[in-house]
Amino acid sequence: MTNNISFLPSYDAPLEQHKEYLRQCVPLMVKHSVPPDPINYAIWYEYVAGRNVPLRLELDALVRSKTPFDADTSLRLYKTYICHASVDSFEKINGQLQRLVNQAAQAVSLTSEQAAVTGDHLAEQSQTLAAAAQQVGLQTILSEIIQETKQLAQTSQALKTRLDQTHQEMAQLRNELAQVREIAKIDALTGLLNRRAFDQALKTFVTKPAVQPGCLVLLDLDHFKRINDTHGHLVGDKVLRFFSSLLQKYAAGHHRVARYGGEELAIIMPETPLAEALTIAEQIRSVMETSRLKHNGSLDALGKVTVSSGIAVRQPGDTPESLIDRADAALYRAKAAGRNRIVAQEAP
Ligand code: GH3
Ligand code: MG
Ligand code: MG
Repeated sequence: MTNNISFLPSYDAPLEQHKEYLRQCVPLMVKHSVPPDPINYAIWYEYVAGRNVPLRLELDALVRSKTPFDADTSLRLYKTYICHASVDSFEKINGQLQRLVNQAAQAVSLTSEQAAVTGDHLAEQSQTLAAAAQQVGLQTILSEIIQETKQLAQTSQALKTRLDQTHQEMAQLRNELAQVREIAKIDALTGLLNRRAFDQALKTFVTKPAVQPGCLVLLDLDHFKRINDTHGHLVGDKVLRFFSSLLQKYAAGHHRVARYGGEELAIIMPETPLAEALTIAEQIRSVMETSRLKHNGSLDALGKVTVSSGIAVRQPGDTPESLIDRADAALYRAKAAGRNRIVAQEAP
């Protein structure tokens, strides 16, 4: 703040007070030969008002020393005691304003501190995030989160797809396993049930409750060894397959046709009376007897190939072995009786 700053003093006293100051001021100015200009009037106004003590002391000293009130003295007094005083007042006001500003600043600061306290957690998170963002970049973090989310979704979808595929593969494997189990029951050469499957089917046959007795038929090619010896084993295989096809053709749907062993075949006939078993066995015997088999595509006939059969009727308390024994005994009698025939077990 400099002294040349012009700042008008305030004169807010009542009108009567101004008139009284005027009545006292003018005689003094005339008495001390002071030019009646506005600056001098302001100086002597302050003097008679009595509120500007430093100015009053300076004027009293000047009067006593009879110093003339020229323009320079008037201007010095005015700047020193009136404008300066006004500046002092201004600085008081400015000081008050400064305090208000400081209080406001403190209030703002307090508010900021409260906001800071309230926002501590957020600030920490922000700092953490900011620190992380500075290291790898916020966009990178978000991209990684999005990417990981997408990967998780893709992984879940891939897992679901893989599970679906696994279920399909398991279903396919179950089907293949069932097929393998069926294949394991089949004889490769003839396509009939093999001996193991025959044993299981016969066990079921003798233990399963039935409305009426069934039969077990054993069928054996006559002098089959000669076929092999004369025409070779492969021709013997073809004869064996033809023989097997006849059993499959004439056996009933619920019958089980098997290769019991070698060139000896069997038909398990549940719920089948002896007469029906005899009929089927006879059909097979007759066809074998009348067929003129050829080998290697040539017209060379193999000659007559016949079959002998033995039939056993299921009895209460039978076991697989007892039933087989009676069927085998009947077959033996058919062979013994001259072959190309059917023998049923003797009535119990
Ligand atoms: P029988 O009238 O007394 O039954 O005389 P057979 O010659 O048939 O009797 P045997 O049991 O002595 O001979 C059976 C022959 O069947 C012996 C064997 O070589 C033949 N054989 C057994 N299994 C097969 C086969 O899978 N293929 C061929 N080609 N021959 C077989
Ligand atoms: Mg034989
Ligand atoms: Mg045999």
